[in-house]
This record gives sequence, structure tokens and C-alpha cells, in this order.
Amino acid sequence: LSDKLSAVFDRITRRGALTEADVSEALREIRKALLEADVALDVVRSFTDKVRDRAVGAGVIKSVSPGQMVVKIVNDVLIETLGETAQPIDLAAKPPVAIMMVGLQGAGKTTTTAKIAKRLKERHDKRVLMASLDVKRPAAQEQLAVLGRQVEVDTLPIVAGQTPIQISRRAMEAARLQGYDVVLLDTAGRTHIDEPLMQEMADIKSYAEPHEILLVADSLTGQDAVNLAKNFDERVGLTGIVLTRMDGDGRGGAALSMRYVTGKPIKLIGTGEKMDALDEFSPSRIAQRILGMGDIVALVEKAAAAIDAEEARKAAARMAKGKFDLQDLCDQLAQVEKLGGLGGIMGLLPGVGKMKEQIANLDEGLIGRQRAIILSMTPQERRNPDLLKASRKKRIAAGSGARVEDVNKLLKQHRQMADLMKSFGAGKRGGLMGKAAQ
Ligand code: GDP
Ligand code: MG
Repeated sequence: LSDKLSAVFDRITRRGALTEADVSEALREIRKALLEADVALDVVRSFTDKVRDRAVGAGVIKSVSPGQMVVKIVNDVLIETLGETAQPIDLAAKPPVAIMMVGLQGAGKTTTTAKIAKRLKERHDKRVLMASLDVKRPAAQEQLAVLGRQVEVDTLPIVAGQTPIQISRRAMEAARLQGYDVVLLDTAGRTHIDEPLMQEMADIKSYAEPHEILLVADSLTGQDAVNLAKNFDERVGLTGIVLTRMDGDGRGGAALSMRYVTGKPIKLIGTGEKMDALDEFSPSRIAQRILGMGDIVALVEKAAAAIDAEEARKAAARMAKGKFDLQDLCDQLAQVEKLGGLGGIMGLLPGVGKMKEQIANLDEGLIGRQRAIILSMTPQERRNPDLLKASRKKRIAAGSGARVEDVNKLLKQHRQMADLMKSFGAGKRGGLMGKAAQ
């Protein structure tokens, strides 16, 4: 797939703003990449719409292709959607703080419960009690006790024949009496979502009033992720998601799907069977995994940084000397075009409305014509506008398809800007900047 993508992107190398066609072509491949990463179909659809809105008309950075630019925009939107910053488990409540783990059977609830307990004990210095409410599977409670001994975290003593509610009551009471900070409630799962499971979760919730309800979901869940997350969120109410088996082959599309439909943060990811295989969620890392185009993203970022640094340095150096010749004006006009033209800039302004297109067309043409005039001059003329007498102006006008009048207008505009720059540059000796500083 990557090879095919690069082929598409190499074919179209052109500067300026992204057109519908550029974006559509790139999005066709992006859509495939998302589906291959197991992002749910509905999510792919609305996600690519969002990207299209953002991308059409956006500027393309020098030295990258429109296709590469779209990849970068997709990547940015992906990170935004996944949530830009990592969200830790929230313990800001009166202790004992209950955390309830929910999810399907085999998702990794019990394992993750022990991993979180270990982390809270070691990194946050919390006194943690774990309790298994899984009375369905014969060895479930014993499994948690074994893990508890392994990570040296207490588990609630097992009493045969109790219901999940009775166990959670016992857990909360024990925690209050014995001064635990956190109680982790590991619930039973099912092979699929059904009403008895949801009822049981809702009952436990209303009794234990957990501060966090974390959905533990297998990252290989794929297209079912949306239903899973939606059901649990609607019936029980989630505060976050833990994605397990991220050490596997899955590309993490479930992360995007679940985040998209529930809006709930992905708080942690499981990366193995070992008790410390639990990582903070990193949106950029997941974005890279879903998209599989980290190279292109890095390339565009590098190109953008290089251009910004180079141009800022050049402009600053010249302005410091109070210099602003026609070449500088030409560079500035090019910058405006790079940003997607005045149309692109105005598109960022709210409330410009219908007028926008007309004005943009007008100005865009103007920028192009002005640059054409400057490009028809010799380098010496650009550096030294005083050389431009009548005969030269006629030649330039003819060369750029403009009128001598237009050349004069441009020169006047430039002179005004140059004067302004001079007053900046002369700051030390009492120019504009100097005066302002006094
Ligand atoms: P539960 O039914 O939801 O409680 O699931 P378990 O915690 O019993 O986990 C089921 C299996 O998945 C166990 O063999 C775990 O070791 C394994 N498992 C859990 N999390 C991960 C993970 O992040 N990576 C891998 N590779 N295996 C995991
Ligand atoms: Mg379990």
C-alpha cells in the first residue's frame, strides 16, 4: 500500500492550494488505509469528510506534493480526534475511590486491573484493593488473587456464593475501614453484549458509584468496536477506554472508532501479558500506526520547519538593515500565495461570507500579475528600482502582459513599503521602532 501511495503522490507535484481533485485522489488511498486499520466504516466516512473540509484550499508547502500535504492534514486531524494530550486515571475524589472495569470476556479486564493496581501503587504511592466481581467463571476470582500476589497488591478475600453486588459492598466497606485509597472492581464479561450483562453493570455502578468506569477493549475488535463502545457508554456510562493487545498485529483502528463515537478518552494501552506492559496513550503514535505513513508526515514537517526558518531568517536580516527591494516584495507575494492566496487567508476569517470568493478572485489575480511584473525585471532592476526609467518600464510591461500604469502602481506600492521598512530599520537612530521604545 505504501508503495502505491508514494506513486500517487509523486505523480502530482505542484505548488499552490490543494484542489478538490488533489484531495479526492489522496483520500481514496487514505480511506483504504483506514479500512485496513479496521476503522469502522461510518467513522471512515465522516472522518474523511472532515479532512476534505480542512484540506481543500489549504496551501501546499514548497518541496512536498499535494498528496503528501493531504497525508499531513489527515495525520493532524487524526491526532486532534484521538485527543491531543494523554489523560491519566482520575483519582480526584474522596477515598476510597472506586474504579470499575467493564468489557467483554477475554478483553483483558482482569489483567489490566492488576496492571493498573501495580502502577497506582508504584507510581502514585496509593493503597489499592482489588476485588473480582466475576462469579460466572469458576476460577475468575482466583485468577485475580494470583495476579494480586504477583504485583503485591491486596485482593478482597473470596467468599463463595456471593452476588456481584454483595462483593462490591464488601469491597467498599473493607476499603473504608482499612483506609485504602483506591478500589478496583473487576467485573464479569460475556462473549457478546446482552441485556443481563448491561443490567449487572448498571446495578454495580449504582451501588459502588465508581469515579472511573473504564471500558477494556481488545484492539483487534475492529468493526465491532463502535457497537461495543456505544452500548457500554449508553447503558453504563464510560469515563475512559483502555485498549489492550496493542502489542499484536492490529493497527489500532478501534481506537479511532471508539473515540469517535463516544468522545471518551483512551487512557491507557496494554502492550503485553506482563504486569508492566501498560503504556500511556500517545495520539501521535496511534495516528502513525493507523495511517502507516509516518515517513510522509515527518517529511512534510521537516519541509515546513526548513522553509519557516530560512525565510524568517532572511527577512529578519534584511529588515534589520532597513532594506526592502523588489525581490523582497516578490518573495512576500510568493508567501501569500503559499498560504493558499488571499482567498485562503480570508477563508480563515469568520463572517467574510459570500463576498469572499469575489474578493479572493480579484486579489489572487492581482498577486499573480504583480509577481509577473517583478519576474520580468532583471535581477539588477529588482535590487535597485531606481534604474527603472520609462524605456525599461515599457519593456517590463510588455514582458509581463501588463500596462506601464500597472508597473508604476506596483513601484509606488513598493516605495511605500520600503519607506516603512527603513523606519523600522532605523529604529536605533530614532525611527519608528526607536520612537515606540522611548
Ligand atoms: P478478561 O476476561 O477480560 O478478564 O481477560 P483477561 O484479563 O483474563 O485476559 C485474557 C488474556 O489476554 C490473558 O491471557 C491475558 O494475558 C491476555 N492479555 C491481556 N491484555 C493483554 C495485552 O495487552 N497484550 C497481550 N498480548 N495479551 C493480553
Ligand atoms: Mg476476567
